[in-house]
Amino acid sequence: MKRKQGIFITGTDTNIGKTVTTLVLATLLQEKKVNVGVLKPIQCSGQDALFLKKSLGINDVIDEINPFFAKDSLSPHLAFKRSKKKIDILEIKRCYRTLSEKHDVVLVEGAGGLSVPIKDNYLMSDLIRDLDLDVIIVSTLKLGTINHTLLTVQQARTQGLDVRGVIFNEPLRMKKGILKKTNPNAIKKFGNVPILGFIPHLNRFNKKEIIKQCFKEINVSSILKKKETFLAKRCEADDKEYIWHPFTQMQDWLKDSPLIIESAKGSYLKDVDGKKYLDGVSSLWVNVHGHQNKEVDQAIQKQLKKVSHSTLLGLSNVPAVEFAKRLVSIAPKGLKKVFYSDSGSTAVEIAIKIAYQYWQNIGKTKKINIIHLAHSYHGDTLGSVSVGGIDLFHKVYRHLIFKTIKWPTPNASPFDDIVGFKKEFLFSINKMETFLKKSHGKIAALVVEPLVQGAAGMIVWPKGILRRLTRICKKYNVLLIADEVATGFGRTGTMFACEQEKVMPDILCLAKGMTAGYLPLAATLTTQRIYDGFLFDYKDQKTFFHGHTYTGNPLACAAAIANLDVFKKEKTLDRLKSKIVFLERELKKFKVLKHVGAVRQKGFMIGIELVADKKRKKEYSWDQQMGVKVCQKVRELGVILRPLGNVIVLMPPLSIAKKELQELCSATYQAIKVITEND
Ligand SMILES: *Cc1c(COP(=O)(O)O)cnc(C)c1O
Repeated sequence: MKRKQGIFITGTDTNIGKTVTTLVLATLLQEKKVNVGVLKPIQCSGQDALFLKKSLGINDVIDEINPFFAKDSLSPHLAFKRSKKKIDILEIKRCYRTLSEKHDVVLVEGAGGLSVPIKDNYLMSDLIRDLDLDVIIVSTLKLGTINHTLLTVQQARTQGLDVRGVIFNEPLRMKKGILKKTNPNAIKKFGNVPILGFIPHLNRFNKKEIIKQCFKEINVSSILKKKETFLAKRCEADDKEYIWHPFTQMQDWLKDSPLIIESAKGSYLKDVDGKKYLDGVSSLWVNVHGHQNKEVDQAIQKQLKKVSHSTLLGLSNVPAVEFAKRLVSIAPKGLKKVFYSDSGSTAVEIAIKIAYQYWQNIGKTKKINIIHLAHSYHGDTLGSVSVGGIDLFHKVYRHLIFKTIKWPTPNASPFDDIVGFKKEFLFSINKMETFLKKSHGKIAALVVEPLVQGAAGMIVWPKGILRRLTRICKKYNVLLIADEVATGFGRTGTMFACEQEKVMPDILCLAKGMTAGYLPLAATLTTQRIYDGFLFDYKDQKTFFHGHTYTGNPLACAAAIANLDVFKKEKTLDRLKSKIVFLERELKKFKVLKHVGAVRQKGFMIGIELVADKKRKKEYSWDQQMGVKVCQKVRELGVILRPLGNVIVLMPPLSIAKKELQELCSATYQAIKVITEND
């Protein structure tokens, strides 16, 4: 697919000749047989848009070339306030889309510079990013040019924009010998930016004159980005050549054409062909406030300018300290200490090692066994696989993993038998209590995924189970490890799942949503009591001998702080409530589908289980790959999902809009219907 090009023309200052530059570039492109369109989204006084339309002989209607006009010569947000008009960004986007469908290249001319406010909380640079444009900076040769130009280049890059280059214009004829010889080179060197050429002072703006004066001065082809139209093809080949994908039978992968993501914004991912997909599983359960969230982006950029990584082994760093404090302030009461790592698996490994060593350290050396639940999932490293209850993932490693006690809790019924499920669960817990009464002297800890056992297919616990388990642990002095890697950071409707049953675990594991889905960071939180169980003389050798190289990475911690800031500022959890109710309502419709056995939901964690025959209670066999087929189908409808066996998982970003939720549900419904009912 041919990719459209859009270029934004901005200036280091106002009155620097952006319109003339736009005219010159468009004329030169036309001369090269490129079909050029122009857009002047916002104009405050003057006739620039009309001038461009006429001079270039462009057919588009003027309202599309310039959708927003105010008569005062002021900064847009002021000019439009004075004339009591509103700038509608969606309308600008619509105009741009229309123009870019008609033309090979659209040159978009700004008003003023990058930091000019368009409306409250929205700058010119936000518009450029929203339109997904690269930037050309128009400068002029005079004293102060280097400073102004470098500032603009830097500003563009800080805002995440690509600068294609700097072009010099000469609005007034002037002597420029020494400036022309020195300034561009300095800008090129210090700004690491291409110089696209010089536009000499023009007396007339007709085509002949422009071509005569400028053709040799400007390298037109360098203005057009040679963005590889073959990016998709090349990426596919190289992916297959070089990458071994996780949890993937590579033999199947090699047969298919992979979907390769190039960018993302809000709730949507975009592939190398420019096709958009709704991110229905939050990029594997991690994304919280949408992609390219402004605040998280900026927090990382800001931290980049300070330090990207330093170690917590023997040193500390500012964001790691600040985030630990913030985390303790919002975590379930009683959790006081933060041990950092970098994935959910490591967070759980650390929890297990801490729990085990705690008892060793304080002299209860017989407490060495770990209990975990059937169908549990705690990660893929050997320690976390040891406490995993999903046979498919761990049976091949049985000789490598350590011995545990796998407690036989029930699996959720694929046929929606909630009453039976609850009864079985309570029965299982009562048996655990009897067991602990006798054997607690040998048990170090119980590790659970509170409220929702995610990877097992979204097993949602009946109310009260978590509380009972916690009570039993306390009673028999068994440490409770809550693995909230999936449920943490709002996923179940509260910041942490433990809050819903007012439960305080001894150890809490966090990862997935912690950096809003940006960077790998994990934390294992403990109580003061456990922490104190490691305070001994150095020579006692009771230190916690554990630490990963990237522990407490400053960039990741900066993202994590911003994540919490956004939760607060956008009232994410409050706004989630009505979305959860909306989902509940939408999901009711699924239950009537012929092959939907059960729909399980806890907040924004949803599992829709497909079955072969509801009446006869027959499940699909695993090798029919029904989940995979439905997810392939839903992809054709513009939604990315990833199944767990026969369970279709929905886990959108918390920031998703209701309209997008509707789109997610409709596409999923349609895909399930088509795949399960048309065979
Ligand atoms: C995803 C997950 C893990 C593992 O996290 P990684 O970052 O993939 O290592 C552990 N526990 C639970 C409950 C999870 O959902």
